[in-house]
Parts: sequence; C-alpha cells; structure tokens
Amino acid sequence: AKNEGRNQFSFYTPEMQTQYARKLTLANALRHALERNELQLHYQPQLSINTGHIIGVEALLRWYHPELGMVSPAEFIPIAESNGLIIAIGEWVLRTAAQQLKYWIVSGFKPMVMAVNLSAVQFRQSNLPELITSILDEVELPHQYFELELTEAVAMDNPLTAIVVMDKLHDQGIRMAIDDFGTGYSSLSYLKKFNVYKLKIDQSFVRDIIVDLEDRAIVTAIINLASNLGLQTIAEGVETAEQLDFLRSQGCNEAQGYYFSKPLTAAQFEDYARAMK
Ligand code: C2E
Ligand code: CA
Ligand code: CA
Ligand code: CA
Repeated sequence: AKNEGRNQFSFYTPEMQTQYARKLTLANALRHALERNELQLHYQPQLSINTGHIIGVEALLRWYHPELGMVSPAEFIPIAESNGLIIAIGEWVLRTAAQQLKYWIVSGFKPMVMAVNLSAVQFRQSNLPELITSILDEVELPHQYFELELTEAVAMDNPLTAIVVMDKLHDQGIRMAIDDFGTGYSSLSYLKKFNVYKLKIDQSFVRDIIVDLEDRAIVTAIINLASNLGLQTIAEGVETAEQLDFLRSQGCNEAQGYYFSKPLTAAQFEDYARAMK
C-alpha cells in the first residue's frame, strides 16, 4: 500500500537493528560453545529453613565467550531454544550436573539434591524421561538425588503432556519442582494431578515480602496451599534476614538466595559447604 515505504524506515529503529545483530552474533557463537568448553555450571545452595543445613544445590548455566564475555542464561537460553541447540546443551547440563554431584558424594560431602532446570523444548522431547534415567544410570547416581525444575508456565502450557511426563519421572524416582510458582496461572485442579514434590515460590513475590501486603498474602497462600497438598516449598531470591524470618514464620521449608550465597563455581561451593560444618 501507499505508506509502506515510509513505515518500513520508521519501523526498524537503530536500536532494533543492534538487538537483531546481537542475536545473530550470539546464535552463531553458541553453535561452538559446547565443543569449545565455554559453558560452565554454577551451583547455588538450597537450605532447610528449620535446620540451616544445605539440602541441595541448583545448577545454573554460565557462558563465557572469549570476546563477548559473560552472556546471561536469560539472554542465550531463548536463542538456544529457537535454534534447537538447547537439546544438546540441556543434555550436557544434565550429565555435567549428575557427574558433579556423584563426585561430591564420592568425595565425602553430605548427600544432597541436585536441581536442574528444564527448558520447554527439552520437556516436549518424548524421550526425556528415558534420557534422564540413562544419564543417571551411566553416572551411577541414585535417582532420588536428582530434581528437575520446570516453570509453571511450561507445565501449564500443555498440562496433559506435563501429567504424563511427570508421572514417568516420578515412577523413576526423580523429583519435580514447579519453578517460578505464582507467575503462571496454575489451575488448582491441574496442580492436584501434577506429580510434583515441591513448589518454588517466584522471587518476584519474595522481593517485597516485607513491605508489600499483597505479596505477603500471595506467599502465605502458596505455602498453605502446598502444605495442604502435601508439597514442599522453597523460596527463591531470599536476600535478607527479615525475608527469611517471615518465610520461617509461615512454615516455608527451604530457601535459596544471595542471603546465603550467590551461585558458586564447583570449587567455591566445596569451600562453602566445608565452612558450614
Ligand atoms: P531461575 O531458574 O528462576 O533461576 C533463578 C535466578 O535467580 C538465577 O539467575 C539466579 O542466579 C538468580 N538469583 C539467585 N538468588 C538470587 C537473589 O537472592 N536475588 C536475585 N535478584 N537473584 C537471585 P541466572 O543464573 O541468571 O539464571 C536465569 C534463568 O536462566 C534461570 O531462572 C533459568 O530460567 C535459566 N537457566 C539457568 N540455567 C539453566 C539451565 O541449565 N537450563 C535451562 N533450561 N535454563 C536455565
Ligand atoms: Ca530454577
Ligand atoms: Ca525461578
Ligand atoms: Ca503490589
């Protein structure tokens, strides 16, 4: 139509061109990230609120590119999901996390749970439960030490598939946690059917828990709901003693966040765990 020419020029702002160029650069560089050993896992402790003991770690992916520097998973995982690389990267994460925990247990660290994030694309893979069990068996890691974090949004995107996959994983003794809980409009009737072990309260509710009455009400409601359904709760993004006190007063089971530790390299985590004893 008539105005097309003009609209074309006004539509693509210089900022959008820069963003697009960065995406292309990252997508190309990501193809080599695995073979060039640019990916790493960091580990963030998860603590029991009652005992103060470390009961697990969450594996968080890091990408150090020689020229681009540190690229956030929030930026590169969506790219890896759109070009399919997330399948190979996700498998690397599962295997690396399993091997790391096996190494820690063999080295005499107290047994704990390794929580690994699953992407929507991985979750849609029909052989996911078999892949995970074969990795755990290959590494000789007992299944009960592994926990998979799936966001509420992904679980609710296709709840019928989620029920089937969660049942299979549960049958294999692998735990599931629903990540970013509270942000994804769960239907409570589905929550009952999901074979999950734990709800992970999203950090957006934890952040203002001290000052925002609505956030307090939401967090309290999630903890009560979980408790009534026989599920565990973990709060993410805990940064202050005041937040921890409130969570404890409401009966939240576990906490994770900068108040205890930021995500650590494997070596840093070993120091942290030794100092806790
Ligand atoms: P997430 O699973 O919700 O992970 C929590 C994020 O909050 C992490 O960011 C963590 O470093 C950060 N965090 C932890 N404690 C605090 C705190 O006290 N305060 C604040 N403000 N932030 C805190 P990170 O490591 O940048 O990861 C971002 C997201 O990338 C993750 O969100 C997850 O969705 C995704 N991700 C990370 N690793 C993987 C992976 O191996 N596979 C997949 N599929 N996704 C991953
Ligand atoms: Ca997570
Ligand atoms: Ca989260
Ligand atoms: Ca509010």
